[in-house]
Amino acid sequence: MSTSLHSLTDHELDAELTRSRAEYDTLKARGLALDITRGKPAPEQLDLSAAMLSLPGDNDYVIDGIDCRNYGELPGLPSLRALFGEVLNIAPESLIAGGTSSLETMYDVLSFAWIHGTCDAGAPWSSAPVKFLCPVPGYDRHLAITESFGIELIAVPLVSDGPDVDAIRELVAGDPQIKGIWCVPMFSNPSGVTYSEQVTRDLLSMQTAAPDFRIFWDNAYAVHALVGDAPEVLDVLAIAAQMGNPERPFVFASTSKMTIAGGGVSFFAGSGENVAWYLGHLSQKRVGQDKVNQLRHVRFFVDVNGVRTHMRKHQQILAPKFELVTTILRREVGDSGIASWTDPRGGYFVNLEVLPGTAKRVVALAKDAGIALTPAGSAFPSGNDPRDSHIRLAPSLPSEAELQLAINGLCTCIRLSAAELVHR
Ligand code: PLP
Repeated sequence: MSTSLHSLTDHELDAELTRSRAEYDTLKARGLALDITRGKPAPEQLDLSAAMLSLPGDNDYVIDGIDCRNYGELPGLPSLRALFGEVLNIAPESLIAGGTSSLETMYDVLSFAWIHGTCDAGAPWSSAPVKFLCPVPGYDRHLAITESFGIELIAVPLVSDGPDVDAIRELVAGDPQIKGIWCVPMFSNPSGVTYSEQVTRDLLSMQTAAPDFRIFWDNAYAVHALVGDAPEVLDVLAIAAQMGNPERPFVFASTSKMTIAGGGVSFFAGSGENVAWYLGHLSQKRVGQDKVNQLRHVRFFVDVNGVRTHMRKHQQILAPKFELVTTILRREVGDSGIASWTDPRGGYFVNLEVLPGTAKRVVALAKDAGIALTPAGSAFPSGNDPRDSHIRLAPSLPSEAELQLAINGLCTCIRLSAAELVHR
């Protein structure tokens, strides 16, 4: 469709609706079963780490003078902390290598603050109402964690260089119940936005009414560029210290989208005080980490160049899929004014905006045609996108052939829902 729907006559609109319905019926009749709901790595991406499964091998279990088969060394293997310290631009002593899921680490950290309070303020967060800010669109599982604690979420807009700092400043300065904010600073899920240094500095320096305010800085996609090399990772801990707020960032990351999804290594980082606080509470939960898993990551990557080379291989698999999505969208709905989308330089998602009031309808139409999309609204608090226009696309898992079918089918659904809307 090359003309704006709004410029059509009533007669032309009738014809467009009839044509879109017929196109949709044909799509439905194909009986597709496609899934682009979640940002899972494709099998070929998982194959890139196949060699890691036979590491460290029978006779390789001592590193840094530590027998990885035994209890102990709660902060994780020094060699892995040094390696990923370089990847994440964090001093090894500030970086803890943990279990297999960073989301679990985030849940733990929130639980520790909830039950015990943070290192710099005595009261447990559970002792009074707590609110969190969430830049939207955001990562649904972040939102779900906080919502499961009964924390009230306040949406703040995410713009091209990070969250809207002016809006945030005003909110955090006036309300001591706002204890935290969710941030995915690089190639954000789902917008693909990377925070600028200025936005980062502003977040780390702003005045907050809550003395124990924390930024949950989830750097899940630090080295996950789709085009060229990933930008330099900012040293948030150093900036926070310079700004006089050393305890503000809780940093998280993992190798889930480097090696094995949900079976890699997660990381936590913070100031000396935060790390001591975290380890103190963690030590009530476990005696040590899975250091054999950590060792195989050290053996597999060897050094920071090993990580970069490995991530270029992921890029070679992922970039053509993202290219395919945007090419089809451009061709099918590009100049119709009924959809817009991001062309991300990294991360795992394309952010699709359809006409306000039609995202749920598009997702429902797609579902009925056998194309599973992330539920509309899931990137917003309580699953409620006030404009009902945002849809998250996750192109990584399907093959290119499946993706082609799914996005073409999606465009059919976008056209039909737009025609229905304008025809009303
Ligand atoms: N953080 C973000 C922003 C993510 O997008 C994801 C997975 O999609 C995760 C964390 C999950 O990480 P993990 O597998 O380490 O729990």
